[in-house]
Amino acid sequence: METDPNEKPEYIHPELSEEEEPPSKPTFIDEASFLDEYLKSRNDRDKNTISDHSLSFLQTFFPEATVKDWNSWHWQIKNSARSIGQLSRFINLSENEVKPDFPKSQSLPLRISPYYISLLQRDNPEHALRKSVVPVFDEFLVQPGESSDPLSEEQFSPVPNVVHRYPDRVLFLVTGFCSTYCRYCTRTRMVAKDKCHIGVKAWEAGLKYIEQHTEVRDVLISGGDPLTMPDLHVEYLLSRLRSIRHVEIIRIGTKVPVVLPQRITRPLVNMLKKYHPLYLSIHFTHPDEITPETSEACEKLVNAGIPLGSQTVLLKGINDDLQVMKGLMHALLKIRVRPYYLYQCDPVVGTGHFRTTIDKGLEIIRGLRGHTSGYAVPTYVVDAPGGGGKIPLLPEYITGREDGDVLLKNYEGKLFRYPDYST
Ligand code: SF4
Repeated sequence: METDPNEKPEYIHPELSEEEEPPSKPTFIDEASFLDEYLKSRNDRDKNTISDHSLSFLQTFFPEATVKDWNSWHWQIKNSARSIGQLSRFINLSENEVKPDFPKSQSLPLRISPYYISLLQRDNPEHALRKSVVPVFDEFLVQPGESSDPLSEEQFSPVPNVVHRYPDRVLFLVTGFCSTYCRYCTRTRMVAKDKCHIGVKAWEAGLKYIEQHTEVRDVLISGGDPLTMPDLHVEYLLSRLRSIRHVEIIRIGTKVPVVLPQRITRPLVNMLKKYHPLYLSIHFTHPDEITPETSEACEKLVNAGIPLGSQTVLLKGINDDLQVMKGLMHALLKIRVRPYYLYQCDPVVGTGHFRTTIDKGLEIIRGLRGHTSGYAVPTYVVDAPGGGGKIPLLPEYITGREDGDVLLKNYEGKLFRYPDYST
């Protein structure tokens, strides 16, 4: 039977599940040993890595739990630190970090997975990863120009959970839940408000909007973190979107491979790869996040043909240093994640202590461009407050024009002329 190349798959409902297909039968002569090898390697791949570091943390702080528990993403979510009191079991809080008896932040609750806690340095409040997830008193200060919705996403939202800012693509906010909350989150206004996923039914208006808007060729699924939802819900969403003929590509924005790599299971990856072309934008912050667990999670995704890009927010005292940023970009390329965007930190309420000047970002880009592989240089952008969209920022490489030539400065600061005419 001939198949229509334009045919889109039927969508499935979350109530229905599908059995994983058995592997096709190999035709090697030594079939028994081939099968043994195959099953062994397949079982090996099924196991999630646990690094020595994680193992030692597990034995110290969760002596009752097993490696199997640790590698279960449900266990990780269930055992996350959700209060300063719980967190103080694992790290010694400093003067500037919020104390257990202090009122909770009204804007962003605390949640950190045990895996990510294991990466935090117990006695060093200056540790980059620790600063990104542990609340400090500075986040109670409101600076001029800050807003709860600095990108005016609500203004550009034609139906609940959809942001339609650019003509041919939409942002679809499908959950308010993340396994770990970043203290500088742009969507502080919506994440964790219901402490759970918003539910499949709540997506209907957004899905209908996308169906009706034939100009939408690209859907970015974000939140919250979409990969914290059950497989069936992720698949329902992907299958609904894939059944819309004008949707060419689907992207998922996530921090899960970094903060909850145990979530990148074989069934999840096998499901995701049915919905190509599918891209993942992963939120990386610092080289300390590149662990054996995260590397394995990214490897599984890349091996399933899913292109991975990284989105990094420029953060004062965390990654606003050329060597740190270069280290992160190099480490990402080694695990086959392409640096995509470097974001100027959005002016969200209570994030003044995280923001650098734009000059700092330009200095970092100047230190990367030409000094390392082009693949290691992300596009530095400011997401314009008020909803202007992403504006790329580049150091000044054109220094002037003279006699029909453009005067250019290279990465070493040397001047060159380019004859700028066309016949
Ligand atoms: S993972 Fe993304 S959505 Fe979740 S808290 Fe961090 S920045 Fe916000």
